[in-house]
Amino acid sequence: MPRWFSRDSLIFQSSILVALLVVVIVVTQYPVYQKDRELQQVDIDRNLALMQLMTEGYMEQLTRDVEVIAASPELQMYIKDLSSERLVALQSAFLSLSGLRAGYDQLRYIDRYGVEQIRVNNRSGTPQLVEQGLQIKTHRDYVKAGLAREAGAVFVSRFDLNIENGRVEVPYVPIVRVVASVYVDGEQSGLVVLNAKVNDLLHQLRTALPDNTDLVVLDDSGGWIAGGGDADWAFVSDSASVFSVRYPALWQQVRSRPEGQFELEGQCYDYRWHHSSRPGIQSPELLLAQRSVGEPCSAFRTDALKKTGIRLGSGLLVTYPLFLLWRRANTRKRQVQRELAENYRQLQVVTEMAGHGLLMVDRNCRVQWINPEGERLLGWTEAELIGRDLHETCHVTPDGCSLHEGPCPTLHTLVTGEDSQADKERMIHKSGRILHLSMSARAFGDDESRGAILAIADVSSHIETERNLTQLASTDALTGVLNRGAWLSLVTGWLEESSDDIYVIMLDIDHFKKVNDTYGHSAGDTVLKTYTHTIGQLLRKDDVFGRMGGEEFALAVRHLSLNQVLALAERIRRAVVDMQCTLDDGQVITITVSCGVAKYGGEGSVKPWLDKADKALYLAKHSGRNQIQFYQPITGNGSE
Ligand code: GH3
Ligand code: MG
Ligand code: MG
Repeated sequence: MPRWFSRDSLIFQSSILVALLVVVIVVTQYPVYQKDRELQQVDIDRNLALMQLMTEGYMEQLTRDVEVIAASPELQMYIKDLSSERLVALQSAFLSLSGLRAGYDQLRYIDRYGVEQIRVNNRSGTPQLVEQGLQIKTHRDYVKAGLAREAGAVFVSRFDLNIENGRVEVPYVPIVRVVASVYVDGEQSGLVVLNAKVNDLLHQLRTALPDNTDLVVLDDSGGWIAGGGDADWAFVSDSASVFSVRYPALWQQVRSRPEGQFELEGQCYDYRWHHSSRPGIQSPELLLAQRSVGEPCSAFRTDALKKTGIRLGSGLLVTYPLFLLWRRANTRKRQVQRELAENYRQLQVVTEMAGHGLLMVDRNCRVQWINPEGERLLGWTEAELIGRDLHETCHVTPDGCSLHEGPCPTLHTLVTGEDSQADKERMIHKSGRILHLSMSARAFGDDESRGAILAIADVSSHIETERNLTQLASTDALTGVLNRGAWLSLVTGWLEESSDDIYVIMLDIDHFKKVNDTYGHSAGDTVLKTYTHTIGQLLRKDDVFGRMGGEEFALAVRHLSLNQVLALAERIRRAVVDMQCTLDDGQVITITVSCGVAKYGGEGSVKPWLDKADKALYLAKHSGRNQIQFYQPITGNGSE
């Protein structure tokens, strides 16, 4: 996965946020959208129904008026006798009805030959009886249609423009003609023709519509009556602008459904076809529609989407800064956690590799943490040790004694904040065993909340090695007694303490070369070991016995009298004589030893004193060996 779309990337997290906001907004807004859509539809339906009712009411009044006149006794009687009295009475009825109906342009009675008999003009709102210039209207469609109708039938013409003297009257006077056939005694005798001003109806219909909509009315051949702009009424003289001609496919679709919606030139039309529901009336169908000004049919949906977008935008505006803050904090936190985990891992690795036990204690010396090596060294698991006082647990014996010679270095570090270092610290293993450890403690934190980290390492083996090395350096490898260097150093120490009653006995095996020559060097070694062991049996703890080289040994003693020293030398000589060294092959070797004894006489160093003993030894050798000689300068023994 590319980095910019990984789980931690800003783009990924922002996308999640946007997706969540979209879901929340859609889930909460969709029902609101649906409800609004329903309400809008209800509004449209109500407007269309209102328009339909108004048209119905309008037509109803027109048809009833012509029906009433057609069936009126005045008209019936006039037709029967055609008297001038009846004519006057009829004319006055026509006038009074026209006076009641301002919207009636003309009210006429036309006889069966198409000749106007009564005509009341009402253009100005004041009805006027026209007696001169009554016309013959035989050729007019409405006359033909009316005369072809049965008794009681009413014919309503297409909506039309008034034509005067064969020309369309300007400004336009839209007219609908309502024609009722008049029958007297079963015989057709004429027509009542009412010209009504359609503008009244159109005006009424406009009042039914909200401000942001236009009224649209089309007749059933697709002519624009209202809402067509320049095309309104143009069908009267020119069919080119007729809806059905310009938009034939759309017209077919609109014509085939009683109501619905369509879009034309980016504007939405909601329509319903109206036709008269009264029986016996032939009237043209009208398409009544409301047009949403400048709005396509998808406007509502677009608007809802826009609103959703705005909500999303404002939602983002509010939540995005919060999200960025959260993300920053979270990223930092995760980074810190990662670093901590990494540090911890490194610490584990380092401490495991370093082989040091590590412990962390708080200001009260309570263990907070211990690494596996620490657990191994002290014998406690981390779970057991955490919370325990380290000093009480590992530095104090069951009888209450502290293992520290001075103050506890850990407590010192906790109190002062200074580093502590102890090469030979002692601690108590869980089993009770005393451990020898090196320990260093380092403080962390401030005075208020100081803790310390302790590094401990097992030095038991170091001490042992040290001891071994010291021993190796100071002992003779073959016999295990002190070597020359160690012997000299110890005895020099004696001389520095006190010079009284210190004697040295130099011992040299007699004819030892022969032993080697006779039995071999290895047998000689065995003899040397048996020899030193034999002498060791006779010595006190304080005596210092060492190998000076070859088969020559020295024994330093103090706090003894000369006699006691000589007696000791004699015991040694005799023990050596009695000593029997048995080899692996069963052969037995015996030896003798010669001794030279000298008292320390304040020479100031070991060397001249040893020379004296050597001289005594030399004397013993030359006096026949297997004997003891004491260095006595006064007697003239030796070279002095
Ligand atoms: P003397 O009575 O005069 O002391 O005679 P000696 O043979 O003992 O004296 P010398 O000093 O001539 O010889 C000492 C011999 O001791 C020579 C050497 O081979 C032997 N020797 C010295 N150190 C060792 C040792 O570590 N192991 C064995 N097997 N022999 C040793
Ligand atoms: Mg010898
Ligand atoms: Mg020798």
